[in-house]
Amino acid sequence: MADAPSAVALQGTLASIVGENHVISDRDRLASYERDWTGRWEGRAGLAVRPASTDQVAAVMAACGAAGVDVVVQGGNTGLVGGATPMDDEIVLDTTRLDEVGEPDPASRQVTVGAGVTLEEVQTRARRDGLDFAVDLPARGQATIGGMVATNAGGALALRYGTTRSSVAGVEAVLPDGSVLSRLSGLLKDNAGYDLPSLLVGSEGTLAVLTRIRLALTRRPRRRAVALIGVDDLANASTLVATFRDGLGDALEAADFVDRQGLELVCARLHVRDPLPRPCGIYVVVQVADDEDPTARLAAVESEDWADVVAVGEDTQRCEALWAYRESVSEAVAAYDVPHKFDLSVPLSEVAPFADAARLAIEALDAEAKTVIYGHLGDGNLHVNVLGFRPADDRPARALAPLVAEHGGSISAEHGIGRQKRELLGSTRSAAEIDAMRAIKQALDPRGMLGRDRVLPAAPDPRDEQDEVRREGVSR
Ligand SMILES: Cc1cc2nc3c(=O)[nH]c(=O)nc-3n(C[C@H](O)[C@H](O)[C@H](O)COP(=O)(O)OP(=O)(O)OC[C@H]3O[C@@H](n4cnc5c(N)ncnc54)[C@H](O)[C@@H]3O)c2cc1C
Repeated sequence: MADAPSAVALQGTLASIVGENHVISDRDRLASYERDWTGRWEGRAGLAVRPASTDQVAAVMAACGAAGVDVVVQGGNTGLVGGATPMDDEIVLDTTRLDEVGEPDPASRQVTVGAGVTLEEVQTRARRDGLDFAVDLPARGQATIGGMVATNAGGALALRYGTTRSSVAGVEAVLPDGSVLSRLSGLLKDNAGYDLPSLLVGSEGTLAVLTRIRLALTRRPRRRAVALIGVDDLANASTLVATFRDGLGDALEAADFVDRQGLELVCARLHVRDPLPRPCGIYVVVQVADDEDPTARLAAVESEDWADVVAVGEDTQRCEALWAYRESVSEAVAAYDVPHKFDLSVPLSEVAPFADAARLAIEALDAEAKTVIYGHLGDGNLHVNVLGFRPADDRPARALAPLVAEHGGSISAEHGIGRQKRELLGSTRSAAEIDAMRAIKQALDPRGMLGRDRVLPAAPDPRDEQDEVRREGVSR
C-alpha cells in the first residue's frame, strides 16, 4: 500500500523554494502556529513554510498539490473561529514575509500592500500622508491585511465606512493549483467578466492564497473625540445610538458597547478603576470625527437624564484610555477562561430582546455560567462570550443558533465561519446557496487541499441520500 502523503517528505522541496531557514519543522517553533489566540482551537502542523513572494507561494502550492498534502493559510493568527489553526499535519503557509508596503497614490487614494503586512503598518503609512485605512480593530498590531480580506473583517468603524470589502480595490492571489490571479489596477470601473476579487473577499483561506492587495484609503478627518457613556440597559443604549446617528450623521464613526460583566473583567485585567460614579448595565463608546471640533456635539448628551457621561476626550491618549474599556474585553475574557465565542448580528430593533433571550438560554443550561456581551451596537453586531463550559461542549452553540434565526439575524457578523460554525451554516444560508458555494470550491480546489473542513458543512453521505430515496420510494 502507498504511504499516506507526508508534509515532512516535502521539507527538502519546500526548502529549495523558500530557503532552509523558512521551513519550520522543529516542534517547539511550530507550537505558536498550532494554537489560536483564545486557546480554544489547537491542532498539529506537519511543517510551516514562509514564502516571501508571489512566485514562491505559487511554487509552494504547486509542490503541495503534486504531493497530495493539505495547506492552511495563516497570517497574524488572530482569527476567532479556528480557520487558521492547522489540523492533521497540514502545512501552515505563513504569509508574514509578504510584507511589502507600496507608496500611496494621492490621486486615486490607493496603495498596494503584501498580504502579510499588519493593519497597524498600513495605518501608520497612510496617516503620514493625511490618509487612513477605514477598517480598525483591536488586534491591529498582529492582524494582517490578507487575513482581514480573507475574513472580510468588520470592526468598530464599519458603521461609517463599511467592512473590509468596501476598501478592497483589487487583489492578487494564488489558486490551489499554483496559478496566479492578478487584478491590482485599482480601476474604479471595470466590469469585464466575473468579479473574482469580490469572490475571494471573505473566502476564509478556502479558495486561494491572497498575496497582494490594492487598498482604497480614506481622507483622515482632522479632529476626533470619544465619549464613554453609561446607561441602564441595551434598550436605552440602542436609543442613545439612534439619537447620535440622527444628530451626527456621517460624523459618527463608531458606536460600540460592553456590558457590566465585561467591564468588570476589563477593570480587573487592566488594574483600572470603574470609570463611572455608579455601576451601569451597559457602557457605550462613541467616536465622532470631523474637520471641526466635535466635542461640543458629544457633550450635548450630558443633558440627557438617562445617560451618565463619564468623559469626553479629544487628545489621542484620552481617546485610547476610553476605548481601552471596550477594546480590552476580548483579552480580559480570554484571561478569565477559554470562552465559547459567538459573533452574530441582528436587526437593531432586536438587539435588546435577543440579548435577554440569549442570557436566559445560557442560564437554563447552567445557572453558574457567565455570559459577557459586547460589540458594535450601531451595526447590530453582538459578541456573546459564554464562560464556564468545556471547549468541546456544543450546548451553548445549539442553544443560541435557533435564537439568532428567530430574531432574524446572522450566525456570523464579522469573524467568519471557519471550523467553529461550519455545521451551523445551514441555519443562515439556504441549501441552494450552500450548493453554489460547494460548486465554486470544487471548481477552484477540486482536491479540497486548501483550508479543508472549514466554512462549508461536511458533505452529506451519499449512502444516506440513497436510503432517503429508497424510503421515499417505499412511502410513495
Ligand atoms: C482582540 C481581538 C479583537 C478582534 N476584533 C475584531 C473586530 O473588531 N472585527 C473583526 O472582524 N475581527 C476581529 N478580530 C478577529 C481577527 O483579528 C480578524 O479576523 C482578522 O481579520 C484576522 O487576521 P489575521 O491576519 O490574524 O488572520 P488569521 O487568523 O491568520 O487567519 C484568519 C483566516 O483567514 C485566512 N487567511 C489569513 N491570511 C490569508 C491570506 N493571505 N490568504 C487567504 N486566506 C488567509 C486563514 O486561513 C483563516 O481562515 C479580533 C481578534 C482579536 C484577537
